[in-house]
Amino acid sequence: MNDLRRWHDSTIGQRAVKELQKNNFQAIYCENSKEALNYIFENIPENARIGVGGSSTIREIGLLTRLQEKGFLLYDHNAPSLTLEEKTEQRYKQLTSDLFLCSANAITLKGELVNRDGLGNRVASMMFGPKKVIVVAGVNKVVRDSEEADQRIKMQAAPLNTKRHELPNPCLKTGQCTDCHSTSRICNITTIIHRCPALTEIHVVLIGEDLGF
Ligand code: SF4
Repeated sequence: MNDLRRWHDSTIGQRAVKELQKNNFQAIYCENSKEALNYIFENIPENARIGVGGSSTIREIGLLTRLQEKGFLLYDHNAPSLTLEEKTEQRYKQLTSDLFLCSANAITLKGELVNRDGLGNRVASMMFGPKKVIVVAGVNKVVRDSEEADQRIKMQAAPLNTKRHELPNPCLKTGQCTDCHSTSRICNITTIIHRCPALTEIHVVLIGEDLGF
């Protein structure tokens, strides 16, 4: 990565982190995934039962593999070979896990977390249930405000997630959100967490890398 890019990522990332902190999130900017992993493991309670949201970012930085190696009990609906029933069961268990790990679709420079879900298990687990939540995101997820977050989701996050799961949604053909009445639509619920809710300790780990969708 060249110096100019690193400067821009760091400047934008640090600004987002400051605003998140003002909104009571425990936010930190990490230059790279290695630094982020150190922070995350320092903040995982011993013997925690860990819910895993459907995030590419936490896989990309190697977090899931490290957790498996360390023998943590994971509730991961994307684990291989699960039946539909077992996937649903994992989603319910995420709601009462000790720690929930996920990413965000967008993080605004006003210090908000913006997410759009198909089923809602990720956004539900982020808001209430697990006492601790760690949100891990690349600096590419930072946007100006909720309007730009909406555009980001329609142009990138949702079409790429549709492609990842090969769902027959209109954006699979167009690469962007297009008039959608699909039964497999992944954009049914939008949440904005404006400030950290009092009963949930939300950490936001913003990494100076291009990660996830
Ligand atoms: S086409 Fe449907 S699934 Fe794709 S981004 Fe739009 S609402 Fe979401």
